[in-house]
Amino acid sequence: MTMYFNEDHDALRDTVGRFVDREINPHVDEWEEKTVPLHELFGKMGDLGLLGITYDEKYGGQGLDYWFDLVFLEELGHVKADGIPMAIGVQTHMATPAINAYGSAYLKETYLRPAISGRMVTAIGVTEPGAGSDVAGLKTRAVRDGDSYVINGSKLFITNGCQADFVTLLARTADKSGFHSFSLFVVPTDLPGFVVSRKLDKLGMRCSDTAELFFDDLRVPAENVIGEEGEGFVIQMKQFQHERFYALPVTYVKARDTIDMTVEYIRQRMAFGRPLIKNQVLRHRLADWVTEIECLKQLTYHIVRMKIEGLDVTREVSMGKLLAGQLSFKVCNGCLQMFGGMGYMNESLISRYFRDSRLLSIGGGADEIMRGIIAKIEGF
Ligand SMILES: Cc1cc2nc3c(=O)[nH]c(=O)nc-3n(C[C@H](O)[C@H](O)[C@H](O)COP(=O)(O)OP(=O)(O)OC[C@H]3O[C@@H](n4cnc5c(N)ncnc54)[C@H](O)[C@@H]3O)c2cc1C
Repeated sequence: MTMYFNEDHDALRDTVGRFVDREINPHVDEWEEKTVPLHELFGKMGDLGLLGITYDEKYGGQGLDYWFDLVFLEELGHVKADGIPMAIGVQTHMATPAINAYGSAYLKETYLRPAISGRMVTAIGVTEPGAGSDVAGLKTRAVRDGDSYVINGSKLFITNGCQADFVTLLARTADKSGFHSFSLFVVPTDLPGFVVSRKLDKLGMRCSDTAELFFDDLRVPAENVIGEEGEGFVIQMKQFQHERFYALPVTYVKARDTIDMTVEYIRQRMAFGRPLIKNQVLRHRLADWVTEIECLKQLTYHIVRMKIEGLDVTREVSMGKLLAGQLSFKVCNGCLQMFGGMGYMNESLISRYFRDSRLLSIGGGADEIMRGIIAKIEGF
């Protein structure tokens, strides 16, 4: 028991922690070589009730509050390859929050329930070859035809894309300028016209499945629109707040683990007749990082309190996402430096952490986009 957590939170922490230790970390080296098997992993997580912690019990969720969600994400920070928390985060915080908040009873029963049970793997399809940061520039088109929409276009860099059973897809449904020309769809991947055109090769997040998707006259029932037609952009901007929040607890826990692993190494590594840790310059660097980690953690706890009060967290989540991206790369880069040549070897974990850490300042809204949101809210 602590200031924030009672024995129920501790029980969830134990469950997730044990799952990470037994069902994830022993396999990560193998998954880094050949991609994480998502149906198998999510099936096990669904059986433990881990994929719908805050979601309605009516659809198989746990109906718990955001402190439990925080505990879940903190424990995922202990996974020894960031691609796995990212795959899980897509399922729980990126592709399903909009269905949970705006989806019809039909969509919740047909898609949210199996996503929560881990029987369906999900992906979020926003980015396109011609539109990343500028989401409103996307060109994938959904045209109403009777009781369905016909979708044409493509999506790039889609996490879980090769294995997904459905994609939560943002597409253009009108040509008006402004933000009311888009709709968010649930697109099952077994429909004719859905094509995984490429599995992409990446610098880091090697275990993660990243795809280019192609939609060729794909016909999806009109009932698969999430919320109102034309409101998809606005709904996706809200969904992004969940996506970005996921990164915060995972990052500060992972950064702290990275530091602890590095301290263990520099305690025993001798140079100039004494352990490296005896050098004040290195200890001070570590002290700076743990200070920033604590700031990110406290900002995250503040966001949880705001979320529980139902407040708009866009400002704080954008700040947290910006800080998390910068901090994770700084810590991984700096720790790799302390490992010296050994840090540069693929056999050392820090080289993987360094590669993985580069993504956070790019994906889910790049640093520059976070700064733009913060500046706008601040009135600059
Ligand atoms: C491994 C990986 C997984 C991903 N998973 C998904 C996913 O599951 N679903 C999905 O939809 N997308 C996904 N993405 C896409 C990701 O969200 C985009 O890459 C990101 O939003 C940036 O878009 P972009 O790559 O098109 O860069 P661009 O928009 O081309 O930007 C290039 C650079 O210019 C900067 N920039 C852009 N505009 C401005 C400006 N106005 N002022 C200053 N600088 C600017 C950007 O910040 C960036 O640094 C993934 C990406 C990667 C690499």
